[in-house]
Amino acid sequence: MTQGITRRSLLQSLAGGLATGSLTAGLAAESLAGALPAPSGSASRNVPMERLRRHIDPDRVLLWENTRKEIRELLDSGLLKAAILPAGSIEQHNEHIALVEDTAHATFYAKQIALELYPRVIVAPPSFCGYAPYWMSRKGSITLRRKTFQDYIFDVLHSLKTNGIHTLLVLNGHGGNQQPLKEMEETWRSKLGVTMEVDSVWAPTPPDFVKTVLESEKRLSHAEEYETSIALAAHPHRVRRVSMKEYDDAKLNYESGFSPEVEHFLRIDGRTFIDGRINEEGENATDRARQEQSLLATAAKGEKLVARVVEYYVEKLQKMIAATESGQPWPPA
Ligand SMILES: [Zn+2]
Repeated sequence: MTQGITRRSLLQSLAGGLATGSLTAGLAAESLAGALPAPSGSASRNVPMERLRRHIDPDRVLLWENTRKEIRELLDSGLLKAAILPAGSIEQHNEHIALVEDTAHATFYAKQIALELYPRVIVAPPSFCGYAPYWMSRKGSITLRRKTFQDYIFDVLHSLKTNGIHTLLVLNGHGGNQQPLKEMEETWRSKLGVTMEVDSVWAPTPPDFVKTVLESEKRLSHAEEYETSIALAAHPHRVRRVSMKEYDDAKLNYESGFSPEVEHFLRIDGRTFIDGRINEEGENATDRARQEQSLLATAAKGEKLVARVVEYYVEKLQKMIAATESGQPWPPA
């Protein structure tokens, strides 16, 4: 992009924006249409992505914040190559993190990744709820049926492909979604005939890396030091200060005394239904340990984890896009 082109695009967009009353949207669409080269395999090398990124509203990487005109122009220009579908959950995150955490962090990561690769990658609407029947004894949790969740994800992927996006990453932010997604991955890939992968946000941070960042000896997989640190880095307003005294005073019990309605859900999944009976032994101790571990969380630790995750998926998506462009199979043989 040259100064001259930028200035011309800016003037065009000012005129268009004032006329339509949508100045912000006009600016970004016009500067894309006016400043970028014609589509070609090497388009991504010619575009000064750094400069483009600095001047956009970060919400522009969210599919649902664009107009049909903007998406059509991105597709027609050949610049938009891939979509990320965040898979989340609305569920208990102990006493201190808002229920939306998994949906929020999956979407947060997707947005960071898409900004790094702007305008080649767009974030599809996340699955707001996921598969979490085993949390139904903790108030606030919502679960979809396994098949409802799988069907939702497939329908969004199918729509994205129909739009002409042939590189699709399902970025999962919730443990319970992992198996329902993974078991469909191959089927969806062959049905859609696209470069597609399901991966979870914790995959890039194996235990040996986590050990260099966190203090806890053992990861308790949920709402503990790891996840609370991510939440503090990504969206601190979703984390509350809760002391262990407050926790203990609440006298919580997640091992027994379930209503028949809750029992219905606890019977659905192997995490809570073992050997033909509901088994929640040890849950109270684990729940308390998670609460205690969360007190070690800091935003600085979270930032180290976030950086690692974003870097990993930026690289992975670039490889996936390259595979689609060159007609190579995915995953690579
Ligand atoms: Zn979570």
